Amino acid sequence: MTLTPLELTRPASVTDAFLQQLVARVPGSSGTTWKLTEVYTGDVLVELPQSAPEDIERAFAVAREAQRKWAATPVKERLAVFKRAHTLFVDHARAVADLIQVESGKNRRMAIEETCDPPMVMSHYLKRAARLLAPVKRGGPVPLVTTSTEVRQPKGVVGIIAPWNFPFATGISDAVPALMAGNAVVLKPDNKTALSPLYGIRLLEEAGLPEGLFQVVCGEGPDVGPTLIDHADYVMFTGSTATGRVIGERAGRNLIGCCLELGGKNPMIVLEDADFSEAVRGAIFGAFGNTGQICMHIERIYLPESRYEEFKKAFVAAASALDVRAAYDFGPDMGSLVSVDHMRRVKSHVDDAVAKGATVLCGGKPRPDLGPAFFEPTILEGVTAEMLCGVTETFGPVVALHKYRTVDEAVALANDTDYGLNASVWSGDVVAGCALASRIESGNVNVNDILATAYAAKGTPSGGVKNSGVGARHGDQGLLKYTDVKNLAVLKKQVMGPRPGQGYEKYVESMLSGLKMLRRFRIR
Ligand code: NAD
Repeated sequence: MTLTPLELTRPASVTDAFLQQLVARVPGSSGTTWKLTEVYTGDVLVELPQSAPEDIERAFAVAREAQRKWAATPVKERLAVFKRAHTLFVDHARAVADLIQVESGKNRRMAIEETCDPPMVMSHYLKRAARLLAPVKRGGPVPLVTTSTEVRQPKGVVGIIAPWNFPFATGISDAVPALMAGNAVVLKPDNKTALSPLYGIRLLEEAGLPEGLFQVVCGEGPDVGPTLIDHADYVMFTGSTATGRVIGERAGRNLIGCCLELGGKNPMIVLEDADFSEAVRGAIFGAFGNTGQICMHIERIYLPESRYEEFKKAFVAAASALDVRAAYDFGPDMGSLVSVDHMRRVKSHVDDAVAKGATVLCGGKPRPDLGPAFFEPTILEGVTAEMLCGVTETFGPVVALHKYRTVDEAVALANDTDYGLNASVWSGDVVAGCALASRIESGNVNVNDILATAYAAKGTPSGGVKNSGVGARHGDQGLLKYTDVKNLAVLKKQVMGPRPGQGYEKYVESMLSGLKMLRRFRIR
């Protein structure tokens, strides 16, 4: 690992005036603020207003007013905003990455990758939304004289609660299909990472999104969450499984829908015939990309007994050679964890594992010399289900190696978890890899990749099973979930019931033979 003393110049775009402008749109009538810090140094960047319940109620009222007009705007005009926004987002990717980096501490390579997510989502739904939102004639129960049409209507105001690990992607990308469908949005980002989504909203408004349609409220989750959920018509939540349960319970009580994108304890299975140099490279990204703070990242690696030592040696060497440090350029392979609190949580998982008999193959310690929340890329061996990191999500740069004797055993071990978000399978034979993938209980499985192929495939729904979530983002359902269906049924001529003079027996006879005909001729 490269050690570099902390010599940092904040990105030129991140000026005090710019930050003040960004946070000015967050309502905070009580005057309470939260100190939003630069992760690499711990210096306060800006005082973020904290929204009181009255502020949240007002945000919903303004959003609701704007939504009525927006829903009445033709889909084509709504989509034109996102065409312009796509260009603006790509043109301003570097400035967005600056904000993502200062507020999250991730390395620049991950920050710039994150900026690409909203434009990718926009591109996909720009091609798909008009068709998805168009009325669909389904045909009525009686041919010729009845019709039934599926009409999509926006839910109203969608509440989005976003985490800190991909603040721009989760804050903006999940709003895009909701807005395209004619909804307004009230976003609650994490306090730590409110800057990049605030900038994203500014870019959307520059592209022509009507003012008032996209509101932001800030505060600690338990303070803001209840009022937000109680006023929302639908909730899109990304975060931990524990918080997801709280959100889901409240949404259920209010009888509104919700999508919950939650945590994982994602396995990687390497088959004997895999290209090990590729698999090691994949594992480095899977375990340490975004400093191990990707919901779909890898925390458990299962290796064939016969090639365990070979993989271990190469993987430990590659992890030990990673360039870990604070920098606003593309140099470092890995940046900081998001906060000192989170670093302590990650450390507690490693300490617990070591106390219970696990071996640290590399890393294992905080690195205050690199910055307040840095933690070394850490590889463990001998992790068991009695250890915190054996069963619960660590969400840091910590990964455990395990041996398996048979493929059946590898599948059983991979599935032995309450989570089911992502899995990664490596084989020289794609057919064998896909066969193995079909046996893994997970919302996403990547063959010969870690996560990017599944996540970047915006046409396919992506979500978790088991305790990793309910519902999905991306794909048709990623937009349709923000709509209600109206079944518009038309009866052109009264044909139900006996005709004048026809007895009920005769009527029933003709109705039953009509049923048979409908099936035989497949009349819809
Ligand atoms: P978290 O659940 O603590 O917080 C997520 C968001 O919920 C934050 O904005 C937080 O302020 C808010 N919140 C917290 N308590 C709340 C409450 N009682 N009511 C309403 N809102 C509340 O999660 P985190 O630690 O910020 O994020 C990391 C977690 O997110 C990890 O578990 C990770 O796997 C998960 N995640 C999942 C996905 C996915 O797509 N499945 C994507 C990114 C992150």
